[in-house]
Amino acid sequence: MIEPLIYDISSPGRRAVRFPEPDVPTSDLPKDMLRDDLPLPEVPELEVIRHFTRLSQLNHSIQTGFYPLGSCTMKYNPVINEDTSRLPGFTQVHPLQPEETVQGSLMLMYLLQDWLAEIGGFAGVTLQPAAGAQGELAGVLIVKAYHDDRGDTKRKKILIPDSAHGTNPATSSMSGYEVVELPSDERGNVDLEALRSECDETLAGLMFTNPNTLGLFEEHVLEVVDLVHEAGGLVYGDGANMNALLGIARPGDLGFDILHYNLHKTFTTPHGGGGPGSGPVGVAEHLVDFLPGPIVEVVEEAEAEDDMPVFGLVTPEKTMGRLKAFHGHFGMHVRAFTYILMNGGPGLRKVSEYAVLNANYLKELIKGTYVLPYDRTCMHEFVVEGRLGDIHALDVSKRLMDFGFHPPTNYFPLIVREALMIEPTETETKETLDAFVDAMLQIAKEAKEDPDILHEAPHNTPFGRLDEVNAARNLVLCCEWPGNTRKAGEKS
Ligand SMILES: *Cc1c(COP(=O)(O)O)cnc(C)c1O
Repeated sequence: MIEPLIYDISSPGRRAVRFPEPDVPTSDLPKDMLRDDLPLPEVPELEVIRHFTRLSQLNHSIQTGFYPLGSCTMKYNPVINEDTSRLPGFTQVHPLQPEETVQGSLMLMYLLQDWLAEIGGFAGVTLQPAAGAQGELAGVLIVKAYHDDRGDTKRKKILIPDSAHGTNPATSSMSGYEVVELPSDERGNVDLEALRSECDETLAGLMFTNPNTLGLFEEHVLEVVDLVHEAGGLVYGDGANMNALLGIARPGDLGFDILHYNLHKTFTTPHGGGGPGSGPVGVAEHLVDFLPGPIVEVVEEAEAEDDMPVFGLVTPEKTMGRLKAFHGHFGMHVRAFTYILMNGGPGLRKVSEYAVLNANYLKELIKGTYVLPYDRTCMHEFVVEGRLGDIHALDVSKRLMDFGFHPPTNYFPLIVREALMIEPTETETKETLDAFVDAMLQIAKEAKEDPDILHEAPHNTPFGRLDEVNAARNLVLCCEWPGNTRKAGEKS
């Protein structure tokens, strides 16, 4: 059944709110602000609540079921994050307030910068970027600013492994660099020979994901970093996979010059439709002056031992520029701060240990049935081939929805045929993991015995299989309601 629009359940005169009689003099609104053509739905409160609750249940969410969407780290977002981010001291401030009136917020940002620097092994962190992709843009512009500052203008290319996320080449070419793709070897590592042959005086840097998107720790990471450095390039780390490394390995210690963190992946701030992301960037000592500003620093040390220092917003000397209005997504900073504080150092290490354990547990139980092209101990995720006879990864994914599971990431990374990229995260129980394995094995059985079940899946969801190509080609982003002069499908 198609859920009715809120306008369809509207009936004249019904209402959810009754405002009290005003206790201040009324005054007319300016005429040009008033519209007659704005028919609002008229619905009682209970129907509003039911309508939106039903709508919310049409989507899968981490609150309703397992969500092994590889590379996205769909872990549970603790409710306490929501409590702290709603504290009036954080919600009732404005970024244009004088700094002395927002010392608490600045201190939180300062500590978060400091903790992320500690977790990643870096000398400085900016909290500005709005998401991982914008963190990448900041990072690659820092690479550019660094070379330009040294008058080293012949560096034109950025190397990117073929397993990388699509945002990496997009970022590099947006920053004006030529992208050179590096192949992976038969163990899923960057091909060292290919890397060597590209390490020359035109190399600006390498964008490097470790563990990579196959969920594999790069076995030659130190050699890769050395080769790039010897050629005068910088190593940018895509930190989307930090969930495998917390408290175990620090990219800064491995020689990475720059790294973005995805607070909405590793550090439990809401994700996708759930809210804005946040992609802080950490850099090594030689790059702190290039960070986008402002960042928070102690501008006046505390005088007595139990006094507070004074925090202030500072723009680094050779900054690559401003990236975002004000100070980034502050609400996400509060949530990530809370998460780190609640776990502490040892707790964060446990997060990664369990994330890796869960992924290996699933991998071992699934790999006999689905082809595992790189059969090594994985980190927090792994990639299998979703092809079973004439059954495709898409069919497997659609059928998983009938079992109440969100599908894994499909068709990425591109170097695995019919890829299914599975990331369980640390927050799932053994029972959930076992139920997922049962579903995957059941689907493989159906592929042999009754493949039409798979071709026609999903069967239990509010909508069946959508014509995704048609939906993408003929976007319908508005619908008809009273007073809307635009027809469904019409472009704005
Ligand atoms: C998610 C992801 C990104 C991009 O991060 P966003 O926060 O979605 O912009 C980059 N690289 C990898 C490997 C990712 O998984």
